[in-house]
Amino acid sequence: MTATQRNTRGSIHTMLVKHADVLVTMDDTRRELRDAGLYIEDGRIVAVGATADLPQTADDVLDLRGHLVIPGLVNTHHHMYQTLTRALPAAQNAELFGWLTSLYKVWVHLTPEMIEVSTLTAMAELLLSGCTTSSDHLYLYPNGCRLDDSIDAAQRIGMRFHASRGSMSVGQRDGGLPPDTVVEREADILKDTQRVIEAYHDEGRYAMLRIVVAPCSPFSVSRDLMRESAALARHYRVSLHTHRAENTNDVAYSREKFGMTPAQYAHDLGWVGRDVWHAHCVQLDDAGIDLFARTGTGVAHCPCSNMRLASGIAPVKRMRLAGVPVGLGVDGSASNDGSQMVAEVRQALLLQRVGFGPDAMTAREALEIATLGGATVLGRDDIGVLAPGMAADFVSFDLRQPLFAGALSDPVAALVFCAPSQVAHSVIGGRQVVKNGVLSTVELGPLIERHNRLARQLVEAAA
Ligand SMILES: [Zn+2]
Repeated sequence: MTATQRNTRGSIHTMLVKHADVLVTMDDTRRELRDAGLYIEDGRIVAVGATADLPQTADDVLDLRGHLVIPGLVNTHHHMYQTLTRALPAAQNAELFGWLTSLYKVWVHLTPEMIEVSTLTAMAELLLSGCTTSSDHLYLYPNGCRLDDSIDAAQRIGMRFHASRGSMSVGQRDGGLPPDTVVEREADILKDTQRVIEAYHDEGRYAMLRIVVAPCSPFSVSRDLMRESAALARHYRVSLHTHRAENTNDVAYSREKFGMTPAQYAHDLGWVGRDVWHAHCVQLDDAGIDLFARTGTGVAHCPCSNMRLASGIAPVKRMRLAGVPVGLGVDGSASNDGSQMVAEVRQALLLQRVGFGPDAMTAREALEIATLGGATVLGRDDIGVLAPGMAADFVSFDLRQPLFAGALSDPVAALVFCAPSQVAHSVIGGRQVVKNGVLSTVELGPLIERHNRLARQLVEAAA
């Protein structure tokens, strides 16, 4: 039966993408196709190939002459609520612990409306910069805030979303870093985590929403909570996420409190395996790299944040050579201070070269980490690649912009080497979320106005 015949029954929606100058598949042989496109049925890719070899009609046709098409970028680490506290003067020039201490007292005033609006804003920025799937790590729940507030935002804007139910339970009186006013009781954390898994988690292929269990960091939760969180996640077969070995103070805290390196502590807690990924790992030692490689434990590399907080240079090249799954993350908006995925890809390449030489990372490796790498880290086999049977998540960049001029001898490398571009189109699960550079699901003007009003309110509440 042809697609046209099925369309007359009105049961299947079809989309044809044609004439892309270059289409990056990220498939097993990393094919890059010229004058190419995709044929999509009900949000899933049915065919990838030269325009001439694809069906010639569809319900929606996207002619991408002059464009580069890549799989949608996957963001593996973020704290979207921090979009309300970017570039705050008090937190501009500190390392991790000092930076956190000056911000906790602002974040304690967050409201449910602030979570929802800041998540929408962060996602708008992600979508316009090429990201189609994002995780978010929300670990403070003051004033009635719930993970549901960020889930609502993702559903409204149309982003594929891995919502992490973060948590903090060890405040200053128990030797932790956060003030006692922002930590929760462990029983409440576990109960609410179970609630959101049961209410929202979709383990099926092409899921638009998954839940992740994510105690915040070694210096803000107990051993018990780490262990019980792992047991809960494994009972429901959901992923685990946390921060690990972010800088030398983080390593010193681990040695002093637990008598172990961050990797040894992760191993001791059962926090290794293909269902676990750790943010940063800037200071992961060789034994830790071996452990992560052996167990398939993933890493979210966040180059901008690592530079911003002077945390160091994560040994991504060594991790990848050893076989550690590595994805890319923008990290929270108070330590980046942006959610620009293409910019993050570029920084990943540049930072590895600063640390480890000009051949430490190629443009194509950086793109692979940001697509296929991120999909693997999130435990997904249905995104990050443009091939039959995969979700129709892709973005296009118009190669005729000034920032690409003179770079078209290699348009794929140009995307990484040249200044970061906004997308022309973004399609997620077959739905066009960005069209001709404009977000089609949320009106940006009023959103940003509301976001800035709430950001002012938040800072004033803490003054
Ligand atoms: Zn983080």
